[in-house]
Amino acid sequence: MKIIVAKTGGFCMGVRRAVDMVLQASTRNSPPIYTYGPLIHNPQVLSILNEKGISVMTEIPEKGEGTVLIRAHGVPPEAQQRLQDAGFRVLNATCPHVIKVQTIIRTHTRKGYASIIIGDKDHPEVVGLMGYANGKGRVAADIEGLSAIPLFEKGIVVAQTTQNSRLFQEIQAWARDNAPHYKIFNTICNATDKRQAEVRQIADSVDAVVVVGGHNSGNTTRLAQIVRESGKPVYHVETEEELPADAFASVQTVGITAGASTPQWIIKKVYRSCEGMLLKNEKSWRVMFFNLQRTLLWTSIYLALGAGSICYTGLKLQGFDYLSPPVLVSMLYIISMHTFNHLTGRKADRFNDPDRAAFYRSNRGILTALAVAAGAAGLAIASYVGPLAFLILLLMSVLGISYNLRLVPKQLHTGRYRRIRDIPGSKTVLIALGWGLVTSIVPSIMRSGAVPGGTLLVFLWSASLVFVRTAFFDILDIHGDRITGRETFPIVLGEASTMRLLKGILVLNMGVLFFSSLLGWISPLGFVLMLVSVLLYLSIAAYEQSRMSPGIGLEFLIESHLVLTGVLGWLSTLGS
Ligand code: SF4
Repeated sequence: MKIIVAKTGGFCMGVRRAVDMVLQASTRNSPPIYTYGPLIHNPQVLSILNEKGISVMTEIPEKGEGTVLIRAHGVPPEAQQRLQDAGFRVLNATCPHVIKVQTIIRTHTRKGYASIIIGDKDHPEVVGLMGYANGKGRVAADIEGLSAIPLFEKGIVVAQTTQNSRLFQEIQAWARDNAPHYKIFNTICNATDKRQAEVRQIADSVDAVVVVGGHNSGNTTRLAQIVRESGKPVYHVETEEELPADAFASVQTVGITAGASTPQWIIKKVYRSCEGMLLKNEKSWRVMFFNLQRTLLWTSIYLALGAGSICYTGLKLQGFDYLSPPVLVSMLYIISMHTFNHLTGRKADRFNDPDRAAFYRSNRGILTALAVAAGAAGLAIASYVGPLAFLILLLMSVLGISYNLRLVPKQLHTGRYRRIRDIPGSKTVLIALGWGLVTSIVPSIMRSGAVPGGTLLVFLWSASLVFVRTAFFDILDIHGDRITGRETFPIVLGEASTMRLLKGILVLNMGVLFFSSLLGWISPLGFVLMLVSVLLYLSIAAYEQSRMSPGIGLEFLIESHLVLTGVLGWLSTLGS
């Protein structure tokens, strides 16, 4: 069983930019805020935007107030003028690639050229482009349509930015033979080109392909058409519910791609469905292993195991033999905080991990009891050991619990910073700090009431490892976080810069281990632990190069690096 997810699938730069602009407008501009036409054809996204006070305008009124965002497709210049004349503040989120095509048409129209647009005449982008042709524009969907248009003395040919690149090559060949005086502009955007090239490649290497996106989305339909031309079965679906139950009855490998306005969480839902359907073709032990992985991840038990492992090995690194109470406290704290935050942060989970959100919804009672019991047990052990460890753990617990809660009432402050989670990057930093403290500083205090230098090095090692793991998951959750307004590192810095940052941190992490062990500040086990950083580096690089797809398998693999620290720590004791 194998699923290949196209790296180029989902939100393109233009859609992402438009989403960012409208979310920014909702926090900076006074209401009302509108998008001229739906930003994305997805009811969940529209309802989230609605909750943020962003509604859809379908007709331009005579008079109005507030801000209107023009979507990535662009609009005819008259529509923009009418919006301004009506009294709206206009935010133009037209994609730069579309602006380029508009400019080509406008410039040539002024010089007396007629414009032929190869595309879908009803698509908003094409409607917008026609507005720049000043009545001298024509639309053709294919060669037949193009041949039916009378030849112009002066003409240009451009493409809708999401046009099929093979079709446009044929159009170019037709023009060379039939209208050599026409100026041809290949205006297909590179995101579209790459998406189409990748789906051709994927179709060659799998048994079936799922294309995710609106049935009325031109670019998604073209992706499905490309797969069809390859001879492989294709399922064009808007949601996972449209996948036929027997779709993969005799299939081993499936490819998934998606249109330019398909959010990642819908791709994820489809991925999970495909995973479940393909599992039916697998041997029973693989099904059991998959279910075990999922349960361990969803209940945060595997994470707690990771925390216990880091704590155990951190103590070993410092040569301490006082192990059980701190390891237990770290595990209880982590399971309690992560469960609690999944319970209170279900809105983002609804997009980022819908299955997990459903699991938390249906087991709310038992999971709340688990979070409370684990937190209380951790605090009880810490208080038994000493007041300082108890106080630090209590403070960390309060901070952890309040992360998703509104701390500043609306009456006092209506701005955006009302919860800790509203601070950009706070989630990743706080998780890393929390893990670092509970796996290094708290254990040292529990042991001797002091924090020696070696403990600070262990803190750095632990916090940096967890920072990388958390920020990596932020990259996977970028679309859901973007829509729900969470400003994580990938949203603030961009995906590519975050990847570079994570790799840099892992190199530093290895450096800390290497020099601290070399100088005798921590035990030689530090040399061995460099292996974990190397493997984590390779795993995120493999994802970056599309050699791994998001899903339970990848999540389990990333968390396994934390558990591996414990295995290596334990192995180091075998010879002694
Ligand atoms: S598909 Fe290309 S042109 Fe269209 S919005 Fe996305 S990036 Fe811009």
